[in-house]
Order: sequence, then structure tokens, then C-alpha cells
Amino acid sequence: MADGLESESRKLLKRLRDTMAEEAAGQARLDKITDLTADSMGTEVCSIYLFRDEDTLELCATQGLKPEAVHQTRMKLGEGLVGRVARRGKPINSADAPSERGFRFMPETGEEIYSSFLGVPIQRLGEKLGVLVVQSKQARAFTEDEVYALEVVAMVLAEMAELGVFVGEGAALKARHTQAVMLRGTTGQEGTAMGHVWLHEPRVVVTKVVADDPETEALRLTEAVEKLRVSVDEILADAGTDSEQVEVLEAYRMFANSKGWLRRMDEDIARGLSAEAAVEKEQSQARARMAQATDPYLRDRLHDLDDLSNRLLRILTGQGSETGSEMPEDPILIARNIGPGELLEYGRKLKGVVLEEGSVGSHAAIVARALAIPLVVHAARITNEALTGDRIMVDGEQGIVHLRPDESVVNAFRDKIAMQAKAQERYASIRDTPCVTVCGTRIEMQMNAGLMADLPSLGNSGAEGVGLFRTELQFLVRNQMPRRTELAALYARVLDAAQGKRVVFRTLDIGSDKVLPYMKPNDEPNPALGWRAIRVGLDKPGVLRMQLQALLRAANGRPLSVMFPFVAQYDEFASARAEVDKAIDREVRLGHTLPETIEIGAMLETPSLAFASQRLFDEVEFLSVGGNDLKQFFFAADRENERVRKRYDTLNLSFLTFLQGIVARCRESGTRLSFCGEDAGRPIEAVCLAAIGFECLSMRPASVGPVKSLLMRTDLGALREVIEQSRARGDQSVREAVMQYLRANA
Ligand code: PEP
Ligand code: MG
Repeated sequence: MADGLESESRKLLKRLRDTMAEEAAGQARLDKITDLTADSMGTEVCSIYLFRDEDTLELCATQGLKPEAVHQTRMKLGEGLVGRVARRGKPINSADAPSERGFRFMPETGEEIYSSFLGVPIQRLGEKLGVLVVQSKQARAFTEDEVYALEVVAMVLAEMAELGVFVGEGAALKARHTQAVMLRGTTGQEGTAMGHVWLHEPRVVVTKVVADDPETEALRLTEAVEKLRVSVDEILADAGTDSEQVEVLEAYRMFANSKGWLRRMDEDIARGLSAEAAVEKEQSQARARMAQATDPYLRDRLHDLDDLSNRLLRILTGQGSETGSEMPEDPILIARNIGPGELLEYGRKLKGVVLEEGSVGSHAAIVARALAIPLVVHAARITNEALTGDRIMVDGEQGIVHLRPDESVVNAFRDKIAMQAKAQERYASIRDTPCVTVCGTRIEMQMNAGLMADLPSLGNSGAEGVGLFRTELQFLVRNQMPRRTELAALYARVLDAAQGKRVVFRTLDIGSDKVLPYMKPNDEPNPALGWRAIRVGLDKPGVLRMQLQALLRAANGRPLSVMFPFVAQYDEFASARAEVDKAIDREVRLGHTLPETIEIGAMLETPSLAFASQRLFDEVEFLSVGGNDLKQFFFAADRENERVRKRYDTLNLSFLTFLQGIVARCRESGTRLSFCGEDAGRPIEAVCLAAIGFECLSMRPASVGPVKSLLMRTDLGALREVIEQSRARGDQSVREAVMQYLRANA
């Protein structure tokens, strides 16, 4: 790069910085920037176009075009050359703009006389803010150095916007992180929460964008990169053989040593940026590429580069998790993604969780569900938008997040929470009343659990027992396989806390989405249909045996209920049961006290089991329908795939008819039956399940009140009538008819 150009660029940046330092309204600043840039680039025109809304750009300042076009000329994203620069996130450089594809002539601007055009995006960490353009009469393509120089100006503009220097009358560049933002994600766990943001990984705020002394900045960067390399090597040495972690770290190491990456940052510094601004400029560009990358491997690597840039920024600015900011009293955790162990460490102090990625069936979601905190996943851009301490509201029901909400939203949200609190009071008043419907049917209310921390809910919610204790959570939150004695102690504590109420322990249900961090993941083409749950337990019985022994010991003279997950045919149940018998024999030989009673059941999660031989129904002590899995297999619709998950209604008559068949078989054989999928906790679904004959429902604790309350107001006989009429009419789903009936009668 030519020295002359470098010093030109530095001069321009310094003049920009001085402009920013002056007291001026936002518009005056924008005007000054266009003047300075045109002057320094030697062009007749310099214009700034900014986004008015998500897809409209507006001319907000210009040197050279007609002043009356300012705040009048607008274009859609993708429209004209400016719109194309914005859409692609890449510069357009043309000696003969009018002949370019997509050129759109804006007569009110008087731009027809300008032949050459250079436009660069104004963007920050993947967020599009606008477009910076220079134009000149002389037909010439701009040099690479000139393109680069204009990009640096655009970057400074974006950073300055972040710091809020353009706020003011007439100015359009909004200060990020001060505006109210509403983000739409996906419900991970119902519930509403109001609190303040706690960023799992604090964002680094770059306050110094322009620097006077490139040598000092280059040295700072070199030292920081060196520290980064050492730290990556250290983590790599500790990572052992965890192949996924090693792969990520190798990618880190590759980037940390990448000559291209380092050279580009050095060049930015030479042009007058501070070291941290140079890192952030690279990061911005990587994010822009990430938004366009469709190849998952490339996206992952760009993510790695993003993480690495954050680490480097923390080293450079000294900011990080140890910045000393205090966790707010009502923290709502914001993260790109989080592991179940980390989430558990925060535990119940969190009021809510919002993840940029994550998925409904992820481990984090399972833990959030177990902790009963509202969770929204897939909240795009949340980690960019939120700052620690910002006020935030999470609506887990709708999957909506309000960041820095204005007062009207706050008030509406407060009303919603107050209404929920009132409803809770109502539920508290029926907590100790047995659940009997209007027609006199007694429905047993059970709860789902998976952590020790869930057990207090047994008393608070009014649940009569634990219908599903997901034992895999204990395995998922550890870094190594738990020992038998640890498990026995834990299960004993669960039984202590249940104070004689029934707890149904489901043996380890791993595989599919639940991969243990310390087990080699199986590369299966279709994990939900793969080697999971009881299939693993029977093929590699070591862990199952250990778990059964721990359960027998934990019961120590008390009743014990064990349930096997994902049983698809009779012989799987028979083999699993044989393992229990063997474990009992072993305990007897060792002279240990056996449980007072042992009941062994199975989960009905695959349609095949509904049609299993009579022996199954005779031999199991109970069956529990795992509606989450059963429904996904019945409709062939992945429960984790947002596209298809909600496509099929649980109240679809074909599914209800199928469930009725299961109820009928269990009645004939006198087999105890319950339903423990998420649908048991949804009031409308729950009353329908009760109407078709399920007399025991197991759900998350927070649902016990609402479900019980509706059941106690419902006449199941009449509801059955409604379902039958709906069937006779040929409805696809009974939902409409049931809702109408309940609105009028419950
Ligand atoms: C189910 O499949 O409905 C169930 C309760 O089990 P899990 O959600 O843990 O797979
Ligand atoms: Mg299941």
C-alpha cells in the first residue's frame, strides 16, 4: 500500500474524529463527514444512505447531490446500485455506473452527470446500517486502496453510531443499544419473566476507534495475538481427546496464525484505526459472510472466527467476564448458546433465558424446563442487541423478547404478569383438593422432574407424585460418568424429598438429541430413529446395571418404581426386566435390603408398542405414554424441527383415535396408564386426554394448577360427546369444537 495513501487515510480519520469530538447535532455531523470524505477522496460527491426501516434506505446527507433530495430520496433494499451494495454487504465499484445492471436513476438528486460510482456498506457486526457512496464525473474505476479507505470510513461511521454520536434532531443514524427492540424467537419453555440482561459472554464495547500512532497500535495487536495464541494452545493441551472441542480449537489456532487475517488488521491500523477497531472490522466482515454462507461447515468456522475475535477484543480492551459488572438481582441470561452444565451453575437465580441459537429439544432447553424458567430460543441478533443491565421482558408463551421496552409495553407486560399471579392464587386454593371433574372422574395429577431442585415443587404445585423422573439430566450435567454410589445417594435424596409420594424413575434416556459429553457420539444418519434409550441400555448393559443397582439401594426398604424408555417391542421390555431381576438377585446375595415393592413399567413412545402382543400388557405394571416422541413418530414430524413440529395438532382425530386404542387395551388388561409428554401440561390438550380415558397425567410442575383448574370445571362426558360429534362431522382436529365448548361451559 502506498505510504501517501496511508497518511491521507490517517489524516481523514483524524479529521473525522475531531468532527465527532465537536459539539454538534447529529445531522451537522453527517454533513461534515460527507464534506470531509469527498474532499479527501477527491470526488465531487459523497453521500450517506441510512436504513429507515428494515428494507428502506434514505439519503441522509450529501456533498454534491442536490440538497433538497436529502431525506426525500428513498430506495428499497436491492434497488439501484445503493440498494444492491446494502443487500450484498459488499462494495460496488464502477467507472460507468449508468450502464451497470440494476442502476436506477434518481432525477431529484441530479446524479445523472456522475459517471463513476463507489459504494460501500456501513455495517457493524453483521447489522446493516446503510451505505456510503462517492461519485465523480470522470469515468474511472476506483483503486483497491481507495475502496479500502472508504470502507474504513464506513467502519468509523458504524462505530460512532454505536456510541450514539449521531443522535439528535433530524439525524437518522440511531444509537444502537438505546432503542426498544422486539425480537421474535421460538418458545423453549412457557412462562413470563421481567428482569435485566446478564450476558453470558459480555460484549466488548470499542470506545477508541481512531488512533494517532499506528506503530503503538500494531505492537498492541501483535502482543494481544501472541497472548491469544498461548491461551489457545493451553486450552488445546487441556482439551484431551474430546474430538469436537479439539476441532474447534484447531480452527482457532489456524485463524490465530492466519497471515491474511493478521495482515488485513495491520493494514487497517496503518490507515488510522485502533487495534480493537481493526479486529472488529474483520469480525464484521466475517459476520457478513456468515449471514450468506449456506455450507454448515463454513458457518461453523466463521462462528469460530467470531469467537476468536471476541477473545482478542477482550485481551485488547481488558474487558471480559471479569469486568466487575454486578449480576442484576433479576438476571435474564442471554447467550448465543449454552451447555446444560453452565446453565445449571446459574441455577434458579435466573429469571429467564434467551438464546440466539439453541433448539427446543436441546439440553439447555431440558435444563431450563427442569428449572422452570421461561426460555426463548432462536432469538436472532439478541447477543448483538443486548447489553448487560438492559431491561428485558421474556414472553415464553409467545416466544417474544422485549429489549429496553417502552413504558406502554412494560405496563402491558405487568398486567399480564399480574393476571398470571391472580391465576396462581386461584390454583393455590385448589392445591390440596383432589382433582375430580364435574362428572365425578378422579384424575391423578403427577409432575415431571429431573433434578433434585425440582422436588420442592412437589409440595408447591400440588402434584401427587413424580410421574416421570428423567434420570439422564444427572448424566448430562456432568463431565464424567457418575459413580453408582453418587447416583444411589442422589436417588435416595429424591425419595426422601418426595416423602412417600410415588416417584417413577425412568432409566437413562440418551441418544438422539441427548448426547453425553463424555461418550463418543455416534455419527448416525437419523439419531431420533437411532441407537438411543433402552437400545443403548440393552446393547451395552453396564450403565443400565449400575443404574438399577443404584435405584435398588436408594429405595432401601421403600417402594420403587422404574420405567424403561423407548420400548418398541415386547422382548426389549422382557430383557430389561430380566436385568432388574438379576440386579435384585445380586442385592440379595450381598445381603442388602430390597425395596418394599418394585413396580416395573415402560414408556409407550413408538406406535409399534400400542400393537404389541398381549404379553406386554399383562406383564408391565404400568405404561406411560411419552407423547413427545409418540407424536413425532405417529406424524413422522421431528419434534426438534421448527418447520414441522407444530404442523400436526395433538388434537388431530387420527392421533386421538390412536390414543383411544391404547386406553382400550390397557382397560381390557387392567394395565395402569398415564400420559407424560408435554401435552399433558397444556390445559386444552389435557382435558381432551382425560375425556378419552387417561386418568393420570404427568406434567411440568407449573402446569399442575392450570390443568387441574380446568379439569375441575369440565364435564368429561359432555366433552366426549363434543369429540364424537366432531368425528362424525369429519373434522381433522377437535380443537375448534372443544375450544368452543369450553368457552361456553368451563
Ligand atoms: C416423551 O417423549 O414424551 C417424554 C416424556 O420423554 P422425553 O421428552 O424425555 O423424550
Ligand atoms: Mg421420549
